[in-house]
Amino acid sequence: MKGKLTLIGCGPGAADLLTLRAIQRIKTADLILYDRLVDPEVLSFASSDSTLEYVGKGCGDGGRQQVDINARISEALSQGLTVARLKSGDPMVFGRASEELAIAVSKDAEIEMVPGVTSALAAASEWSIPITERAELQSFVVTTGKSSKDGKDPDWCSVVRPGVCAAFYMSVAQSWRIQTALMAKGVPGSLQCDWIENAGKPNVRHVSSRLDRLAMDAREHAVKNPAILLIRYPLSASIADTGQASELA
Ligand code: SAH
Repeated sequence: MKGKLTLIGCGPGAADLLTLRAIQRIKTADLILYDRLVDPEVLSFASSDSTLEYVGKGCGDGGRQQVDINARISEALSQGLTVARLKSGDPMVFGRASEELAIAVSKDAEIEMVPGVTSALAAASEWSIPITERAELQSFVVTTGKSSKDGKDPDWCSVVRPGVCAAFYMSVAQSWRIQTALMAKGVPGSLQCDWIENAGKPNVRHVSSRLDRLAMDAREHAVKNPAILLIRYPLSASIADTGQASELA
């Protein structure tokens, strides 16, 4: 019998932000593999016949564990099982989806994707921070604080530009590097920055900051993961700033 792999977006961590489709697929899975950031309440939708396995990754061990997760998916699909792979937020956003999908393809298994509320959008909603604004913020981008394998930081300066709202995932430890990289390119230090910790959960927290205080505020307020950093660069801020920022426009 053919196996099936369903990658399920479980949203930012509140069970009532799951989609009806996600709940239905969780209920009918044989094997449920779930991540560290998936709320335990989400697991209560599982049938008593299904097997639940925790496959969360801690910091710094993502490479090794992903290999093990891939092996587990491969084995279960070979047995013809219906595998529900629960991921926080949306599986397509920093979710290592392509690696897991490649396994399903190699096993000729059925594939289904169930979208979820990605944490940047949950974070923006928590504090009523629009990510687009007519004539001010025309683009919304997601980026990461995580460096690539060769240790290079992502090109944040190409992302944080006038008219853009940028959501930084996995960025708490990188706040100083983000601040200095952007300011070195002339992004105004007065730009509003917002940290949203534990979006969608009862312990949600908001730390309001600005670019030239970003690292200091993160440290003083002890911002912790999981957190999203939203940096909004309205067009009017680049016009108001007569310095180097106008070069970026
Ligand atoms: N696929 C997920 C992202 C996984 S990467 C999504 O679409 O949301 C892990 C990062 O997501 C964390 O480092 C953090 O930046 C962010 N994150 C996950 N859950 C969060 C939450 N409840 N509140 C704030 N940020 C969260």
